Amino acid sequence: MIINSKCKKCRRAGQKLFLKGERCYSQKCAMIRRPYAPGVHGKSFRRRMSEYGQQLAEKQKVRYVYGISEHQFKRYFKEIVGQKGDKEYLFVKKLENRLDNVVFRFGWAQSRRLARQIVNHGHILVNKRKVDIPSYQVKKGDIIKIKEKSKKLALFQNIEAFLKKYEVPEWLSLDKQKIEGEIKDQPKIDNLSEVGEISMIIEYYSR
Ligand code: SF4
Repeated sequence: MIINSKCKKCRRAGQKLFLKGERCYSQKCAMIRRPYAPGVHGKSFRRRMSEYGQQLAEKQKVRYVYGISEHQFKRYFKEIVGQKGDKEYLFVKKLENRLDNVVFRFGWAQSRRLARQIVNHGHILVNKRKVDIPSYQVKKGDIIKIKEKSKKLALFQNIEAFLKKYEVPEWLSLDKQKIEGEIKDQPKIDNLSEVGEISMIIEYYSR
């Protein structure tokens, strides 16, 4: 069986990172078939890691999940250093408030990678204005829509059927008929517990 590099990232991280859209929800997922790190020593990979190695692995894992470059990730950390408040929460907010992440959370794309393409190609409106920057930070009260013309594209063909079974996180609200979303609140820190230990990332960059 050929395991591509995205699936290897999941196997190294020891958990599903949902990097391949539909396949991630199927029995074809590599984490179902081979839930250990790749390579001959894969099964003992995690046990051998130092504290630094674990922090690095955690940082990489969350970075892969959100599809963010090292440069951007580090920049988020620098931005929150000077801010008042819980650093973990501030970091989560930076990640969750990205427009590409919000498009994914609304269920308009089955992976953040696809959500990023959707934003990049200009299919998304924020408060009636086109925004094609995936890292754009949304804020409470913003109304997010798919452009009317874009809704006819094959890209969004199954969206209504998918949304019928899909629930958005509680900090977002979604009108499933109009396919229109609103940022109701600030993201909750729990939003990241499914993918990583933010404290380890903060420790990694604080060294
Ligand atoms: Fe591959 Fe997706 Fe499964 Fe990760 S969750 S191993 S990317 S299919």
